[in-house]
Amino acid sequence: AKSHGRNCFRFFNQQIQKDAERSAELHMRLKSAISNNEFALYYQPIVNPHNGLIVKAECLLRWQYDGRFISPDEFIPIAEQSGFIVNIGEWVRNEALNTIAILQQRGLTIPLSINVSTIEFWTTDLQQRFLRYFDEKQSEYDAGQFPYSFITLEITESLMMKQLDTINQLLNELRHRGMQISVDDFGTGYSSLSYLANFPVDQVKIDKSFIQKISMGARHEALIEAIVSMSRALDLTIVAEGVETQAEFDFIKLQDIESVQGYYFHKPMPQQAFFELLAKQSQT
Ligand code: C2E
Ligand code: CA
Ligand code: CA
Ligand code: CA
Repeated sequence: AKSHGRNCFRFFNQQIQKDAERSAELHMRLKSAISNNEFALYYQPIVNPHNGLIVKAECLLRWQYDGRFISPDEFIPIAEQSGFIVNIGEWVRNEALNTIAILQQRGLTIPLSINVSTIEFWTTDLQQRFLRYFDEKQSEYDAGQFPYSFITLEITESLMMKQLDTINQLLNELRHRGMQISVDDFGTGYSSLSYLANFPVDQVKIDKSFIQKISMGARHEALIEAIVSMSRALDLTIVAEGVETQAEFDFIKLQDIESVQGYYFHKPMPQQAFFELLAKQSQT
């Protein structure tokens, strides 16, 4: 038993070292990912549950190097630790704005939902940089033509918990210009309901961990029903995320939920496939 314990210890040590090496490699590689053109945005359609029509899409970042895809769940935390997330975030917003411009040219415009890391709001400087980004972009458009109303920002509960007036002011300014603010992964953080009532948001996304528990018992379903009725009371729209099965979809349809995202309908796809899908929908 003693030698077994020692092997275990050695195994853990090796694993920790392997993880550290991997994370150091990704950290180094991330620095040149933008200039090497290694990023791409994928688009996952969000549909109306009653007719299946695409009403919106979430932009999801993909990083590919040496022929392999690295999951954002792995590289986003590294980018957050190093601060690269600020550059990555601007790259994502540029790309999303290009896509909106193309969609507008083709008469296919739908709103795009863009993920924003809490780190991008960490300091007053970053908050100002965030706003300046949109101010500068806006100046490239004719007066009143910037597509604010086709942009939703997905933030997480950790941002609400900071309870900073400067963040509230920033988000309110963006909402005033026509953007929507959505709370991602809702229910997985540690925020209390009072944060939601006091925070300038328009939408909640019910996290897929809740959806996956549909049909695992009435108590799990009651939790979703509670999120839905609370969102209604606060006048928020709802997206159910991670809907994969018919049973999950059937339950969602019974709820007062206006939009659904998940593999049951569409997986995230490259820009070209997304354009083709929207073009096909507009012809029917
Ligand atoms: P998220 O924002 O919660 O995005 C939803 C994730 O669920 C995506 O994973 C999506 O592909 C996946 N998903 C959608 N439908 C289903 C389904 O039916 N079943 C299952 N099992 N999964 C589904 P993805 O693309 O791997 O992204 C992971 C996370 O990385 C995102 O979670 C988000 O937190 C982060 N991320 C992705 N792109 C960006 C970005 O541009 N900026 C920032 N800051 N974070 C990003
Ligand atoms: Ca998201
Ligand atoms: Ca989510
Ligand atoms: Ca997530």
